Amino acid sequence: MSAPKILIIGAGYGGVVSALNLQKTLHYNEAQITLVNNNDYHYITTELHQPAAGTMHHDRARVNIKELIDSKKVHFIKDTVVEIKTEEQKVVLQNEEVEYDYLIVGLGSEPETFGIKGLKEYAFGIRNINSVRHIKQHIEYHFAKFRNEPERTDYLTFVVGGAGFTGIEFLGELADRIPKLCKEYDVDPKLVKLYNVEASPTVLPGFDPELVNYAVDILEKKGVEFKLNVPIQECTEDGVILGTGEEIKSATVVWTGGVRGNSLVEAAGIEAMRGRVKVDEYLKAPGHENIFIVGDCALIINEEINRPYPPTAQIAMQQGANVAYNLAAMIRNQPRLMRAFKPEIKGTVASLGNGEAIGVVGNMKLTGPIAALMKKVIDLRYLFIIGGIPLVLRKGRF
Ligand code: FAD
Ligand code: NAD
Repeated sequence: MSAPKILIIGAGYGGVVSALNLQKTLHYNEAQITLVNNNDYHYITTELHQPAAGTMHHDRARVNIKELIDSKKVHFIKDTVVEIKTEEQKVVLQNEEVEYDYLIVGLGSEPETFGIKGLKEYAFGIRNINSVRHIKQHIEYHFAKFRNEPERTDYLTFVVGGAGFTGIEFLGELADRIPKLCKEYDVDPKLVKLYNVEASPTVLPGFDPELVNYAVDILEKKGVEFKLNVPIQECTEDGVILGTGEEIKSATVVWTGGVRGNSLVEAAGIEAMRGRVKVDEYLKAPGHENIFIVGDCALIINEEINRPYPPTAQIAMQQGANVAYNLAAMIRNQPRLMRAFKPEIKGTVASLGNGEAIGVVGNMKLTGPIAALMKKVIDLRYLFIIGGIPLVLRKGRF
């Protein structure tokens, strides 16, 4: 009998950690492991706000997949998934079809636009390496263009839609970059406007109020102007229209208003809510004993508050390790060894730009340089987990 075929789609946090744990746990003859990803690199999504603002080179936020995996144990295919055919147990890629006995879905998220008019067409998203390169270049281009069209203050007006962690981290970086761009392009800093529009009455809704106040204070001092308790109602070629009817003319709108699971999951007929699959205790999709979902496509409920856990890299990594462990038990016909998945939330730390951050780690609240140091430690730890000391030294920021 040939070894079972394990197919992992998506090489993000969940997919890469699944692949690395499977290659460590299983012997060569126990399974045929294939990893599919649409790029030949893994990108570090948790750092993308930095290359988006231009405070870090985008190459630092990506790692060649072949440098991470053992090619003798994991077969890597660079291709794009176009369809998951659950009944036929195959995945259709742009260039071929791949069969599986077990499927791990780690395709990540997509921006949630809530049907808001114009967002898809006119707003940028912090999604992947190419999308953040586009944002950085677009910002620089508009600084350069302003010199020749000085009446176009919309070129120097930036709107970030949504004050969740992605929006707040990006604002911190962009606020740091703006003074440098002003110097480089001979622009008066007073002409630059950086707005954040948030529908809730507060930024980072649900997060610790003391830390929220700290973040707002730091960002306001850096020049961010908050418009709270008002939603973006429409995005146009010229900027945004708010729920109050106010229009902000801006050539650069970055939408950070939330995410949903990858639409390929719903298209496969797997039961999902906003693209996220309510998985069982072993992270299996309902009604599919051989399909595991990890990362942003998976939905698990925090029983303590009866709400879904937010989609995070922290949980995606833990899910990748859990699925690899359980799959090894299944393949070895030792189902009693399988472990139910329980997220272990170690904390949340968010950067506010250079040397500033906020966070909760265990019972401790952190702010300022200590929180910023903790953020660096978390980022370095991830590099260590996937690539050991050599990757830490090559890609780490100290
Ligand atoms: P991803 O890491 O998004 O990976 C999905 C992979 O699938 C990608 O490689 C993509 O190229 C590939 N893919 C997608 N579609 C296809 C297709 N059709 N075919 C083939 N391949 C495909 N979380 C934290 O815990 N801590 C943080 O500090 C943090 N910071 C963040 C900062 C930012 C700016 C952002 C945007 C998010 C942050 N998050 C953070 C959230 C975290 O990044 C996500 O929860 C995490 O990346 C989810 O991992 P994943 O494996 O589900 O998907
Ligand atoms: P989010 O859902 O956490 O935040 C989106 C924000 O946009 C919310 O505050 C919401 O009220 C607001 N919003 C929605 N519609 C709006 C509208 N029409 N107008 C104005 N505001 C609107 O999304 P995110 O920030 O992209 O985060 C996605 C996930 O990634 C979350 O789970 C988050 O915890 C995680 N993340 C974590 C970190 C970190 O730990 N440092 C950093 C970034 C992201």
